[in-house]
Amino acid sequence: MLKIENLHAEVDGKPILKGLTLSLNAGEIHAIMGPNGAGKSTLAYVLGGRPGYEVTEGSVTFTPSRPPGLEPGSRFSVAEEGSGTPDQVRGDEGEALDLLALEPHERAALGLFLGFQYPVEIPGISNVQFLREALNSQRKARGEGPLSGGEFLKVARLQADRLGFDMEMLKRPVNVGFSGGEKKRNEMVQMGIIGPRLAVLDETDSGLDIDALRVVGDGINRIMRAPDKAVLLITHYQRLLDYVQPDFVHVLSAGRIVRSGGPELALELEREGYAQVAA
Ligand code: ADP
Ligand code: MG
Ligand code: MG
Repeated sequence: MLKIENLHAEVDGKPILKGLTLSLNAGEIHAIMGPNGAGKSTLAYVLGGRPGYEVTEGSVTFTPSRPPGLEPGSRFSVAEEGSGTPDQVRGDEGEALDLLALEPHERAALGLFLGFQYPVEIPGISNVQFLREALNSQRKARGEGPLSGGEFLKVARLQADRLGFDMEMLKRPVNVGFSGGEKKRNEMVQMGIIGPRLAVLDETDSGLDIDALRVVGDGINRIMRAPDKAVLLITHYQRLLDYVQPDFVHVLSAGRIVRSGGPELALELEREGYAQVAA
């Protein structure tokens, strides 16, 4: 689904990613771990297309996949499972796209979702307005009509309920005055409503207490554990991986993947520290 090859990127002329290579197949969850300053957030921003993050070498191809057994362009409902919106049309897929050539909104329309380490506050726009706009612009990109206010609220309520998120919070301005944990939970509600194919989640576990960690972990599993979806889970600590079992774990250090392995690698990192493992 995602193939990153020899990626080099810089910020303000400073090289941060220095030859990063990584592939994710549909149906897989990959964790990226690494010390502070390794370039984890930079990778997320480059994939999302954030201005100011300049790719100087390498490539990223994105091949949104269809679930096995589903014909191109066919309609399927994932709303029962609570992930995504009713009757999403997944178009003719399986084509490898140059992700870096696409605008951020085009990447989003193709099913890329970015969860931020520090979710932004947007005063003056309610969560409901913001999410309905986001969802409807994606629907438009897929050639579908917009959801009415009432239809959208049904989708939003379902997702909010499942994450134990008060609907009243969704009526408030985006993230304004939310605690760290509420912001992260809100991101999971956003993810549930949008129903992405590929989620890049940057330190989704930071600032969460144990109960919230379980809720968020369950949310990631429920929304993203599917044969046509994939997750890049960026995390500094092992604890989120107790709830979301990764298929692969990679260590990012000084802008490159220096080791890859299974879930046991995360435990080794926790035990021995990055300096030891990345050496
Ligand atoms: P991580 O998420 O792994 O902690 P980051 O991707 O946030 O790492 O940062 C990687 C490196 O890039 C750090 O050394 C950081 O100081 C540097 N960096 C990030 N943003 C900027 C910026 N806007 N200007 C200069 N250096 C930056
Ligand atoms: Mg950091
Ligand atoms: Mg970071």
